[in-house]
This record gives sequence, C-alpha cells and structure tokens, in this order.
Amino acid sequence: MTVIKNETAVLKNYINGEWVDAQSTGTLDVPNPATGEVLAAVPVSSKADVELAVSAAKEAFKTWKNTPVPKRARILYKYHHLLTENHEKLAKLIVKENGKAFKEAHGEVQRGIECVEFAAGAPTLMMGESLSNIAEDIDSEMFRYPLGVVGGITPFNFPMMVPLWMFPLAIACGNTFVLKPSERTPLLANELVELFTEAGAPKGVLNIVHGAHDVVNGLLDHEDVKAISFVGSQPVAKYVYERAAAQGKRVQALSGAKNHHIVMPDADKEKAVNHIISSAYGSAGQRCMACSAVVVVGDGDQFVQALKQKADELVIGNGLDEEVLLTPVIRDSHREKVLGYIEKGVEEGATLLLDGRNEMDEFKDGTFLGPTIFDHVTPDMKIAKDEIFAPVLSLLRAEDLDEALEYIRKSRFGNGATIYSKDAKAIRQFREEADAGMLGVNVGVPATMAFFPFSGWKDSFYGDLHVNGKDGVNFYTRKKMITSRFDY
Ligand code: NAD
Repeated sequence: MTVIKNETAVLKNYINGEWVDAQSTGTLDVPNPATGEVLAAVPVSSKADVELAVSAAKEAFKTWKNTPVPKRARILYKYHHLLTENHEKLAKLIVKENGKAFKEAHGEVQRGIECVEFAAGAPTLMMGESLSNIAEDIDSEMFRYPLGVVGGITPFNFPMMVPLWMFPLAIACGNTFVLKPSERTPLLANELVELFTEAGAPKGVLNIVHGAHDVVNGLLDHEDVKAISFVGSQPVAKYVYERAAAQGKRVQALSGAKNHHIVMPDADKEKAVNHIISSAYGSAGQRCMACSAVVVVGDGDQFVQALKQKADELVIGNGLDEEVLLTPVIRDSHREKVLGYIEKGVEEGATLLLDGRNEMDEFKDGTFLGPTIFDHVTPDMKIAKDEIFAPVLSLLRAEDLDEALEYIRKSRFGNGATIYSKDAKAIRQFREEADAGMLGVNVGVPATMAFFPFSGWKDSFYGDLHVNGKDGVNFYTRKKMITSRFDY
C-alpha cells in the first residue's frame, strides 16, 4: 500500500483548517483502475463528521461573508497560480486514481483552472443593480448576499473539474463550503483542499468530509446547509434533489446522460469519425458529454465501416502511456454492469459489430473493456435508452433529420447532442429542435466553458440554475432589494 499525504494510508477529513481522522472506523480501498494497486483507503465518515464540518463552516461564515469581495478574489488569484504551478502533478494524480489518459487529465486540470479564473471575477460578478427615480424621490437598489453553508457532492469521472465548478465560485460569493468528493477518487480532492489552504483560505471556509451515503444524507438533512450542488448519476440526482428541496434547500443536481450524435449524408466523414471516436472512447466513455449513440442518416454503411476500423485500432492501456486512448473503467462492479448491457444488446437483436469483451484477457490487472459497437440499434432497446457510461457505442439508422431528431426527443436524457453537417438549413433545424441543453455543430464534446452555464435538460438535470456562468452566481447568492425615499 502506498503511503499517502498525512502520513497514513487512511485519508483524513479536512475540518476547520485541520486534517482530522473520521470518527467512524470503516474504510474503502482506492485502487488504481489500470493496475489494481491500492493507492489509499478512504474513510466512510458518519453524520457526526458532517456535524463537525458544518458547524466549522457555519462559524467561519460569520467572518467570511463580511470579508471584502476583492480580498476573497485575491485568494482565488493565488489559488489559480498554485493550480497552474501544479498542473502536471495534478494531472498525474487524476490518471492514477481515475484511470483516464494523461492528455485528458491535463485537459481536465485546465478546465478546472478556468473555473477558478471565472470565480476570481467575484467583484464584478457580485455586483447588484440600481435604478434612481422609480417614483418621485424614490430609488431602488439590489444587493447580492451569500447563502451560508453550501454542500457539494461530486462524482468520480471529473475529480478536479467538478469540485471546481462548485467551491471556488460559492466561496468567492461569500459562502462557506463542505465538500463530499466521490469515494472512488478522494486523493485529488485532498490535493485541491491543500492548495486552497496554501492560497490563504481561512479555517472553516472549505471543509472536506469523505465517505458515502451517510455523509450525503447528513448534508441533505442538516438545517444549517442552505444549498446543495450535486453531480452524479440519474437516480441519485433525483433522490438528492427531492430530499434536499423538500427541506427548503436550494438545489442544483446534474445527472446522467445519453448523448446522440447525428451524422448527416453531407458530413465530412473522416472528421466525424475522429470526433466520435474521441468522444465515445475518451475517458473510457465515462463522460457526461460522451457520445453514446450515433444516428446515421441515409445510407451510412461506408461510414459505419470506417468507424469500426478506427475503433478497432485504438490503443488500450494505462493512461500514463502517451499512446493510449482507451483506458479502464472505474471499478470491476461497474464493468460487470456494462457486460450485462452487452448481453442485453445481443439478446435484443442489435448487431454486435465490435466486441470489447475480447480485449479483457490481455489486460487482466486493470478493469479494462475494449471498444464495443452495436449497429442497427432501435430506440426502444435498453442499450439505446439507458446511460451505460462505458466504451460501448450504439448506432441507430434514420431516413432523415426529422427521424433522427425524434430519437433525441424520445430520450429521457437531454444533456448534449451533436450534428455533423455543412448544410446550414439542417444545422439550424437541429439547433431549434434538438431536445438537449448543450449542442455541438461538428464538435465531439460540446462542453461549455466556465463563463457559460453548464447543464442539460429533462432527466439530465434537476433544479433551476445550472452550474457556472451567471447561473452559478445566482445559485450561490440571494438578492436583497432596498427601496429608499429621499423627500425628507
Ligand atoms: P454516483 O451517482 O454513483 O455518485 C455521485 C455522488 O453521489 C458520489 O459522491 C457518491 O458517493 C454519492 N452517492 C452515490 N450513491 C448514493 C446514494 N444511494 N445515496 C447518497 N449518495 C450517493 O455517480 P458516479 O458514478 O460517481 O458518476 C458518474 C455519473 O455522474 C454519470 O451518470 C454521469 O453522467 C454523471 N455526471 C453528470 C455530469 C453532468 O454535468 N450532468 C457531469 C459529470 C458526471
């Protein structure tokens, strides 16, 4: 077992400016998905640990909310500097605990840094509005105030970017924060907190409690937690939204996805193949914006063959190796679930064009699965409807764009969708009618940048205000209106 920071194999929580042992004794191993090597053990903290963290955050809020906004922003500038300085080290840690390829981990670190960049604009972002003379001698002003303690619950697939969607902006807006990172990728989270402290964050402003369901429920039910930011799978997102909203909390719960890519007859096929391959198989298909269903419009046999050939040539292996694109899935339990989907696809009558199970023997140490493609999938099949979250791609055939758009409309998810075409009319129809929150035109992963809101529609999102951009600022602040009369 590798010795980790804090000089013990069991990770610690960070509460009130100190690394502390969890009060519970249960732990979970954190293996490297590519090698099986156990990197650390993560504590399964209890509600008592949540209590300590929330109470530290509540106490810190008393002074943090009154800390001048430019002073808060300066900590974020410093944080930006430290993250940039540690770019390579952070990317390598992501590869180790998440398994994704180094180039993608590098991109993720960059995306995270951009969120801090955005949050550092707090003095501008926090500005209110005013209007003089709304009536004779009467003016109106709007000020923004923080909410208090915010809880953040994050998934394994973006251990850096997703926490950085949340706490830098929440804290820049004057809130204090309790983070519950994924128990499958806790190491990077500790690194993020360590650097934030080095940047000058006062004690109690950012706390971290490791664990699973008990920590989540502890945050959802705590009366001093005023808002919850959640990112994860659909059933959990819905559960988190309903449980926290029922207790009067503000909630944003970003959820699962099934992203369709439409390939029109006029598309540049070579480029479309390249974009789809990297979208579907990058991060082993474990991205909420991954292409998981391709809708081939018209006669697409040649295109399908080209796609299959490219997928077949993918280099599989440890993400630290520069050549590698296809990396392992996160855990064996997840791979087992995916194998069930492959069996189901065969049973439902889809054509198994490329069978990733054939690659498993060669990479025994890690939780690998080769690239898998099903052709002639129909929208009513389970593999077309469910989020599989793995390197498994479904190909659907459509006569025209109307039929392709109908497939997207029928999907319960609506995170992203892409069209490959040069036809302005088709592109416009796609933009107007595609039933999803983040669209791409000849773009494989149309994820938005930090100054725009990020999230989907339908069952891909529960709540009102998305993460990032002005939505993020509105989510982490409440408005106060002051109407003043000056005729005395
Ligand atoms: P997950 O739902 O298993 O876990 C997310 C968080 O919820 C973790 O911190 C986990 O500890 C907690 N959790 C899990 N089950 C719980 C339960 N029953 N009760 C209380 N808490 C629970 O998700 P994951 O596997 O870590 O991440 C992958 C999922 O996240 C995919 O579905 C993906 O689409 C989604 N995701 C969505 C977006 C988006 O922007 N919409 C972004 C990234 C990931």
